[in-house]
Amino acid sequence: MLRLTEIKLPLDHADDALRDAVLARLRIPAADLLDITVFRRGHDARRRGAITLIYTLDVAVRDEAAVLARMAGEKHVAPTPETAYRLPPAPPAPPRLRPVVVGAGPCGLFAMLILAQMGLKPILLERGKVVRERTQDTWGLWRRSVLTPESNVQFGEGGAGTFSDGKLYSGIGDNANRIRKVLEEFVKAGAPEEILYVSKPHIGTFRLVSMVEKMRAHIESLGGQYRFGTRAERLELGPDRRVRGLHLSDGSFLEADHVVLAVGHSARDTFTMLHETGVFMEAKPFSIGVRIEHPQGLIDRCRFGPQAGHPLLGAADYKIVHHCKTPAAEGRAVYSFCMCPGGTVVAATSEPGRVVTNGMSQYSRNERNANAGIVVSITPERDYPGSPIAGIAFQRHWEERAFVAGGGDYRAPAQRVEDFLAGRPSTGLGEVIPSYKPGVTPTDLSQCLPGFAVAAIREALPAFDRQIKGFAMGDAVLTGVETRTSSPLRIRRDETGQSLNTPGLFPAGEGAGYAGGILSAGVDGIRIAEAVAASLSAGVLAA
Ligand code: FAD
Repeated sequence: MLRLTEIKLPLDHADDALRDAVLARLRIPAADLLDITVFRRGHDARRRGAITLIYTLDVAVRDEAAVLARMAGEKHVAPTPETAYRLPPAPPAPPRLRPVVVGAGPCGLFAMLILAQMGLKPILLERGKVVRERTQDTWGLWRRSVLTPESNVQFGEGGAGTFSDGKLYSGIGDNANRIRKVLEEFVKAGAPEEILYVSKPHIGTFRLVSMVEKMRAHIESLGGQYRFGTRAERLELGPDRRVRGLHLSDGSFLEADHVVLAVGHSARDTFTMLHETGVFMEAKPFSIGVRIEHPQGLIDRCRFGPQAGHPLLGAADYKIVHHCKTPAAEGRAVYSFCMCPGGTVVAATSEPGRVVTNGMSQYSRNERNANAGIVVSITPERDYPGSPIAGIAFQRHWEERAFVAGGGDYRAPAQRVEDFLAGRPSTGLGEVIPSYKPGVTPTDLSQCLPGFAVAAIREALPAFDRQIKGFAMGDAVLTGVETRTSSPLRIRRDETGQSLNTPGLFPAGEGAGYAGGILSAGVDGIRIAEAVAASLSAGVLAA
């Protein structure tokens, strides 16, 4: 097969235009072209009204060697690289203890899948419930203002990304085809095939729920075991600090010497326990801010012009950044985070008495509003010095302020952009109806954000308006607070994937600071499963 890149065609090209473009690129007769597969399809919307599709194709031709020889030096024609993921070799004999994975988010699920596919019969511990029951509990907060601390948007089967936009792209590098493995396993579990080739794939919430169930059934069929409603509460270490097992919330002890820690960024109690146990960790930067909502039509028109609404384009997204200059916010970056086209803002707290925002959408992305986090970069040195877990106290402080400002019943504080920029509280809302459930309280968001973040967002919104006309429209709604953009700490691991000072503990995924998003968390789960297998193999050989 040959890989052809940068094939550009107009948005509304005819079906056989792709074939014609391949023939022209390779300068071959039609009879020599055997097959075309779309490997990737993106679009270039920089020229509004003249949006082009950009294809990467895998093409089968007669006499491939001759075509390649003739095209030598042509950078957009090359042999198709290997895309299949190869499982690492399994240990030569079963280990005495089964590997344990803590957390059923994308990182834990892919760690489980790989370990199960290697025949290692892993055990998964998840503090939350199976995904269907968890969905009911999550709706409990959104519809009835009732939070279930162990079963919510953050905790439960599927992890934090289950009620999300299901965006599946990431800037991470990948020389072992782990990204492809994640996407292919998602397709097997029911994701649309197009996630394999569109440049910015997404799944949406409803499909994710059933996909997670199918993955569980597959893992169990391979001998993997799930234990829901089971929180890992304490690590048992030997005198050499080697992991011996886990004390669990049901009072039992699980002997284990290989533990994957994939607990996500909201497992604050678990982070505190690990810190008290002396597991090496360090504070890391994250961000704080608000969600902004606009009419989706405004974003579509600005991005796609007269071609807005084209089925191949879908609802438009954006990614924007501004570097602040005002003294009160100097050196801060303000950027859009987790943009959800045609989606809703969701209540994402896992702790009572706190309010946190995030965003989600369905596959169709056809809700009336576009939303995105507008967040400000923060660093431990400047904003939460002193302890590796000081970022948690910082988050809690602002989440509590948001809870109080929202009315103390899980409504979120909200403000019109015009009022926010003018420094006056909102007393009502306008054209943009906020989607946050269980509801919002119009107020002054500056009471729920550090002063530098207020100054930074005030500087950034007009700058964003110059990039997306209407972005700072008076009736756009800000809802707060967005505090969980990523983990506030990193649990460092060495080249074998193990904690720097606690052998047998394999920190992974977003909570440990090694991923940011569903795809990268899944990839890290695969990477850490490979590390566990390598360590198990070494142990079996040494025994
Ligand atoms: P998590 O998914 O957080 O999973 C951790 C799991 O560990 C949880 O199920 C938790 O219950 C469990 N756990 C925690 N502590 C313990 C313990 N002590 N014992 C047992 N179990 C424990 N990312 C994207 O790429 N695209 C998106 O569109 C997107 N949208 C999002 C929307 C929302 C509302 C949210 C909240 C997040 C979104 N994200 C999105 C981020 C994405 O969900 C995370 O990056 C990803 O889920 C991280 O995966 P993880 O496996 O590392 O951790």
